[in-house]
Amino acid sequence: MNASDKSREAGVPRLLILGGTAEARELATALQARGGFALSLSLAGRTRNPLPSDAPTRSGGFGGVEGLEAYLKAEPIDALIDATHPFAATMSHNAAEAAHRAGVPLIALLRQPWQRQPGDLWTGAASIPEAVEKLGPAPRRVLVALGRNEVRALEAAPQHSYLVRSIDPVDPPLALPQARYIEARGPFPEADEHALLNAHRIDAILSKNSGGEATYGKIKAARALGIEVVMVARPVRPPVETVDSVERVLDWLERRLHQSSPARRGV
Ligand code: NAP
Repeated sequence: MNASDKSREAGVPRLLILGGTAEARELATALQARGGFALSLSLAGRTRNPLPSDAPTRSGGFGGVEGLEAYLKAEPIDALIDATHPFAATMSHNAAEAAHRAGVPLIALLRQPWQRQPGDLWTGAASIPEAVEKLGPAPRRVLVALGRNEVRALEAAPQHSYLVRSIDPVDPPLALPQARYIEARGPFPEADEHALLNAHRIDAILSKNSGGEATYGKIKAARALGIEVVMVARPVRPPVETVDSVERVLDWLERRLHQSSPARRGV
């Protein structure tokens, strides 16, 4: 009998965490430490060397709403936690629909967006193509902190000189006359970001409003140096119960799992 069969037999609540974020790893660690749950952390499988987690991890898409619904029923999963990145909107919408269809309780763990502070020179954009357009027609020196999946949009504005930072290489490289690449994984402290912006004489940053501390250093450094940040707003998320801390997810699990199954009291 494997661990999965044992957890089913023992009536241990089975949780699926949709991850790809530091918050998902923190939640998995907290749940492992607490015990009393059978846990699976799900990754999309995009990053070549994802950071390790204490929790059992699965990798790769489910196959849309239907695939996730089938997975939730087959395991079966008692509660779903959407701890994906604020810009992973497709997965969040799939999670909401699949959880609804499968009758599985769902909560989203989502960090707060950054708020404009005095001294910030932000230009808002609703999408990455719009952000690229908002760099304007005159050539600029741009730090691109968008990850690697959507950077092809830069090709629409070849007049700029780009410094593209991502965890894995941009492959194939962009069809641009002036693009350099840095492979790096956060956190990125403010002092390092300050030095990077100066060393490359950056005069604009393309950023998603990801929120959190790990990548906020560039925003603080831009504020100190008077550099414009073209800030891409978050996509619309589904209307599901949402909290912004691991502790609140733990509270929710306690309430929901005890409510839905009296036999599980004492977990
Ligand atoms: P997305 O556009 O919302 O999702 C695209 C597809 O990838 C989904 O339909 C799903 O495939 C699969 N997928 C996404 N997250 C998954 C997960 N946790 N487990 C299993 N399959 C998953 O997502 P994305 O923006 O490409 O992001 C991919 C992953 O990277 C997410 O897990 C996210 O947390 C993480 N991430 C994203 C960003 C960002 O800026 N977008 C930044 C940091 C980390 P199926 O339909 O086949 O199930």
